Amino acid sequence: MNQVDYLRVSLVDRCNFRCQYCMPEGEDLTFLARSEVLTAPELLTLLREVMMPVGFTRFRLTGGEPLIRPDVVEIVREIAAFPNLRDLSMTTNGFLLAGMARDLYEAGLRRINISLDSLVPETFNQIVGYRTHTPAARWQKVWDGIQTAYEIGFSPLKLNVVVIPGVNDREVLNLAALSLDREWHVRFIEFMPIGNADLFGERGWVSSEELRQRIRDRWGLEASQVRGNGPADVFRIPGAKGTLGFISQMSECFCDRCNRMRLSADGWLRPCLLNETGQMDLKTMLREGASVEEMRDRVRNLLALKPEINYKGRDSGTEGQFYTRTMSQIGG
Ligand code: SAM
Ligand code: SF4
Repeated sequence: MNQVDYLRVSLVDRCNFRCQYCMPEGEDLTFLARSEVLTAPELLTLLREVMMPVGFTRFRLTGGEPLIRPDVVEIVREIAAFPNLRDLSMTTNGFLLAGMARDLYEAGLRRINISLDSLVPETFNQIVGYRTHTPAARWQKVWDGIQTAYEIGFSPLKLNVVVIPGVNDREVLNLAALSLDREWHVRFIEFMPIGNADLFGERGWVSSEELRQRIRDRWGLEASQVRGNGPADVFRIPGAKGTLGFISQMSECFCDRCNRMRLSADGWLRPCLLNETGQMDLKTMLREGASVEEMRDRVRNLLALKPEINYKGRDSGTEGQFYTRTMSQIGG
C-alpha cells in the first residue's frame, strides 16, 4: 500500500486573486471568520504533535494564498526546524513573492510552486481577476516573484498552469518553452470541476495527452528520469534543462498512488480531495482539550480507511459531478 506521508496544509482560505476556476469574481464567496482559522501555535501543535508522529513527514503550505498570512515566515521557520521533517514546500500565486522570497528562503523553505497560467498579461488578468493593478503590472509582479525565487536558489522551482480551453490553451507551447533554458519545471494541470460550474460547463477541459501531442509535434518529448513523488507524469523536451509535468486527474485515475491528505485553514483533516468521507475537525478537538494521543489514534484510524475512501472519490468524480467547495476551501 502507498505510504501516506504528505500533507497539504492550507494556511488561509482567503486570497488576493480571484481566479476564474477557483474563486470567480462576482460569486457569493464566503470566508472563514478570523477566530475559525487555526492560530500558528495550534497549527504547529497539530503538525508536530499529531501529524508527524503518525507518519506525515512532508508538508506543502498552500491556501488560499499562503503569502497573505502575516505570520507565514514564522510558520515556515518553525516547521523547517521540526526534527524528522523530510520536505517542506509551498504553492503560491507569486504576487507577493518578490518581496518575501529571501525571508522565506532564510527561514528554511527551499521548494516552491508558483501558479502562472499565462504569459500574456491580459489573458493572465482575465484568469486571475481584475483588481488593484493594471494587467501588465499584475503579471509583472508574479514574473518578478518567479525570477527572484530562481535567483535566490529555490529548487526545484515549479510553475503550475491550469489549462482552460479557449483561454490559455493556445499558449501551451510558449509555456512549455520556459523549461528549455532554465531549470524550471512547468506542470500542466487538467482543469477540474471544482469551484466554477459555469466556466467548466462552458469550456470543458483539455487532456494532458492532447497537450503532450502538441509539444511532441514541435520538439519531441521524452519520459524524464525524474519521477515526481506526486501525481505528475514527468517528461522533458530533448536537451531542455527543466521538465514538463502533467497532472491528469480528469483523464487518468491516480487514486491508487495517492499519498496525501489535506488540512484546511480551519483545521479539518480531509483524506480525499473529492470526497468528504471521514473528514475530521482537529481544531475543535484541540480547542476542547483532546489529548494529542487521542487525536493521533483518530488520525491513524483514518489512515487505515484511506484506500477505500480514495475510490469513493474517484467513482463520484467520474460521473460528471460538480464539486461546489473550491480548492482554496479544501486546502488546494
Ligand atoms: N493560491 C495558491 C496558488 O494559486 O498557487 C495556492 C492555492 S491554489 C488553490 C493551489 C492550486 O490549485 C493552484 O495551482 C491552482 O491553479 C489549482 N486549482 C485551483 N482550482 C482548480 C481547478 N478548478 N482545477 C484545477 N486546478 C485548480
Ligand atoms: Fe487564489 Fe490560488 Fe485560488 Fe487563484 S487558485 S484564487 S491564486 S487560491
